[in-house]
Amino acid sequence: MQRRRWLQGILALAAWNALPGRAGAAQPASAKDIEALQKNWKALLAADAKVPTPAEPLKLSKEEWRKRLDKAQYNVLREEGTERAGSSPLNNEKRAGVYACAGCGLPLFTSDMKYESGTGWPSFFTTIPGAFATKEDRYLFSPRTEYHCIRCGGHHGHVFDDGPPPTRQRWCNNGVALKFIPRTGKT
Ligand SMILES: [Zn+2]
Repeated sequence: MQRRRWLQGILALAAWNALPGRAGAAQPASAKDIEALQKNWKALLAADAKVPTPAEPLKLSKEEWRKRLDKAQYNVLREEGTERAGSSPLNNEKRAGVYACAGCGLPLFTSDMKYESGTGWPSFFTTIPGAFATKEDRYLFSPRTEYHCIRCGGHHGHVFDDGPPPTRQRWCNNGVALKFIPRTGKT
């Protein structure tokens, strides 16, 4: 039984890799694919990367944050600012790896969760489980869902429901709030 499941997994993976247009990251077809991406996110973490867990919260004073972050990072992470569309080099980042919080280093997304939304902000259709908390905010009278790092409370962006299937989520993230860790050694 176990062996059969394992074989099915291999076959599913092979089919997935064979999909046309797969360049680095594929668009998962089912909720099961999403579950697998979330469960196996550490496969994209560089072997030598040391990352914190949500169980070790990081609380700093305003002054400490100012020292730790540059101006643009501080504006987004600590003041809920928004970077100019198209300004982040991470829009074009195609390498395999993990996107961590620029404030505290907590892993938030993997390269396999990223897609090209055309908005000018790095966009993801799902997240590493437990990475974020959300809150409703009011913007031009219409509510939208703000999300922030569960470990340091840093603001990252907003999540919308116009993403690709099967999640239909678009996690619209400020690139300046992210730190990309390429998965070195295994590419
Ligand atoms: Zn953080």
